Amino acid sequence: MSEPFPTCYLDGQYLPLREARISPLDRGFLFADGVYEVVPVHRGRPFRLREHLRRMDDSLAAIHLANPRGEAEWAAIVQRLVAEAGAGELLVYLQVTRGAESSRNHLFPAQPRPTVFAFASPYPAPSAAVLERGLGAVTLEDIRWDRCDIKSVALLANVLLRQEASNQGADEALLVRNGILLEGSSSSIFLCVGGMLITPPNSHLILPGTTRDAVLELAQGWLPSQVSDIESRDIGSAEELWIASAGRGVLPVTRVDGEPVGEGVPGRLWQEMYVRLQQHLDELAPTPAL
Ligand code: PLP
Repeated sequence: MSEPFPTCYLDGQYLPLREARISPLDRGFLFADGVYEVVPVHRGRPFRLREHLRRMDDSLAAIHLANPRGEAEWAAIVQRLVAEAGAGELLVYLQVTRGAESSRNHLFPAQPRPTVFAFASPYPAPSAAVLERGLGAVTLEDIRWDRCDIKSVALLANVLLRQEASNQGADEALLVRNGILLEGSSSSIFLCVGGMLITPPNSHLILPGTTRDAVLELAQGWLPSQVSDIESRDIGSAEELWIASAGRGVLPVTRVDGEPVGEGVPGRLWQEMYVRLQQHLDELAPTPAL
């Protein structure tokens, strides 16, 4: 793996990523007993930092682990990593696990000492080809557990689903449970039907996406939007389908299961939303992150 930004944060220290060490008895390693966040950074400014930190609070509360850092401490960690990476366009990864013990034991330790890890990496900007032609996706049965609202590091199901999509030549897996389209393997989803933007409601079956909320806000006063269940067969009558995530922004999906979505090219509404999101990020760039 290349080391574009070698500094990481581990348990109170900033050090070269290649020198960072955790115990093999860390509960994150043994049980995937931990949570994470991915914060996008535009022109050196973390986007929706407060929302990411609140979701981290929610994830930690859901796994009964006290947040080991306050909001200001997290913000300082993020800002330091951004500065070390030379600002610009980044993703900052944050992770908290229930820490290491002296043995392997399912039960929570009485006095957990969480492991806190963070690092910055370059923002993977979408290629010109993706912006021009859109992404391909496949629908797959959702094999994840039913607490998908927790941003847990237990991502094996997501990994298997994304790999299966890739094996089928697609960029994303669209996850379906009982005929209901929920989200991507690492993204929220939007459908445009009859000029209306539709996204599934937050529930224990999806992650409450921060980019999803930004897109819904940016639609206000321009594009009518609705939060409601989407059936997978509704894709057939959609004009457009988008995915949204911190790591990918908002991108058009133009083929699903080998069939074109709408006209099979990135849609007019997506193009407008993409520009609006970019403008929004540019406007926020000179303002404080919190
Ligand atoms: N849903 C899943 C399963 C995800 O993994 C992600 C992001 O990684 C999202 C939705 C989008 O969330 P966000 O926009 O906060 O990145």
